[in-house]
Amino acid sequence: MDYSIARRRMVEQQIKARGIDDQRVIDAMLTIPRHLFVEAGLQSHAYGDASLPIGEKQTISQPYMVAAMTAALELQGDERILEIGTGSGYQTAILSKLVKRVYSIERIAVLAGRARKILDQLQLSNINIKIGDGTVGWKDQAPFSGILVAAGSPDVPQKYLDQLDIGGKLVLPVGDREEQILIRIIRKNENHFERQQLMGCRFVPLIGEQGW
Ligand code: SAM
Repeated sequence: MDYSIARRRMVEQQIKARGIDDQRVIDAMLTIPRHLFVEAGLQSHAYGDASLPIGEKQTISQPYMVAAMTAALELQGDERILEIGTGSGYQTAILSKLVKRVYSIERIAVLAGRARKILDQLQLSNINIKIGDGTVGWKDQAPFSGILVAAGSPDVPQKYLDQLDIGGKLVLPVGDREEQILIRIIRKNENHFERQQLMGCRFVPLIGEQGW
């Protein structure tokens, strides 16, 4: 099955029509075959305007949310990015097209394993995946030019602020277990962080030491 037309329609109607104009993000969304990251029985829904189940009570994020979070990092190409919540690996694949290296943490081993396999099949070789609690970040590899958190947090984990480079951006959903606000925090200097609210969103909970 050729999904390229569905993918183009997804980008036109869900991404560009909603104001995402970062051409590099648009190109990455046009390139990565999203249907490979969902179960065989759901492939025909892969380019729809919704999140989808990926097993283990987790989801692959809505395409627009992937694009909006990625665009909010304002990536140039030479960044080292920390992603929390690998999930299906789709967001990881998009990031890998846009930056130097992606460090991704997933707490559920079976999801991390499945994602690794698809990312390897696509020959995306600039990705490190670790199984564990992503609420504490990845200290050995810090600082990061950007941190993208794909699960809803009750607050902003201090370790993310500590592991963000000067000028770096942190994008994460903060709120209760059902609904959150997508927040962007920019580290202006050692002690000054600028915080912006981007939009309402709904993510599965970030579970761990500094999460739920
Ligand atoms: N962006 C992913 C995609 O496109 O497939 C979707 C991620 S899904 C909404 C959230 C993921 O975060 C789940 O796979 C969940 O297991 C993971 N997660 C939740 N808490 C975590 C934690 N403390 N550390 C790492 N991963 C976590």
